[in-house]
Amino acid sequence: METATETRFGEVLGRAREAGRAVGAFTCYDLLGFEAVVRAAAICGAPVVVLVSPSSFEAEGGERLARAFGAAARGSSVDVLVQLDHARDERLIGRAAGCGVDAVMADGSKLPFGENLAFTRTVAGSMRPRGVGVEAELGRVEGHEDEAGETLSGAMTAPGEAEEFARESGVDCLAVAVGNVHGHYSGTPKLDWRRLEEMRGRSPAPLSLHGASGLPEGDLRRAVSLGVAKFNVNTELRAAYFGSLEDELGHKAATLNLKGLGNGVVEEVQEVVEAKLSAFGWIGKES
Ligand SMILES: [Zn+2]
Repeated sequence: METATETRFGEVLGRAREAGRAVGAFTCYDLLGFEAVVRAAAICGAPVVVLVSPSSFEAEGGERLARAFGAAARGSSVDVLVQLDHARDERLIGRAAGCGVDAVMADGSKLPFGENLAFTRTVAGSMRPRGVGVEAELGRVEGHEDEAGETLSGAMTAPGEAEEFARESGVDCLAVAVGNVHGHYSGTPKLDWRRLEEMRGRSPAPLSLHGASGLPEGDLRRAVSLGVAKFNVNTELRAAYFGSLEDELGHKAATLNLKGLGNGVVEEVQEVVEAKLSAFGWIGKES
């Protein structure tokens, strides 16, 4: 399916892929996490995607959070895009578009191929003309989005299906499963590089890998070199957030120094984001 509209999301991913880099997408649950991501992005000169998890968006105040991220993203020195992650129904996607998000992930990965394609096409057909970018998922990236648990990898994406799906759905980005999982890897992660390489050659849409937390830096760099244009990162950011709170809470509580507690969180999370952006190719390369 040919789509005339180029979305900002698609443009940012396309530019990164051409430059041999990948865009980092980081789940943020509040403005401290957001601040950490935006500061790291500015230092690295990297465009970033701020992910709103569906659980955050569906909770009371979720629309306010998405709008707040969108408002705070404006005026950044780098491109900061807001994306609703893993949305399984059109109603939720429509609400997110109404809040001004730059992109949505239409997650039909639990559906059979044909139904996933039909769902994704419908979303792409309604969202892309409005300038809202669309990411879909083919195969199953297992694991919980908001809680960490040991996870075995799910059904791998078939390269032939990826090609057909990307061509027929007209999406800006396709999330694939090549042994990557959400949360913690059970044992040493083992990605199927040949499968990834074959899909890169066949899919007209840039590919994304979810579950970049826990993948060694060498794997991330290798995936970028094989054409992965977007990584979703969540678990490692939450670990840094909790780590900072554990370290700081005791002595900050004595003085009720809330600002100091928040600063510690931002610093710890920012460090993780910078390390990921470096692995994705944004540091140590000529622009
Ligand atoms: Zn995901």
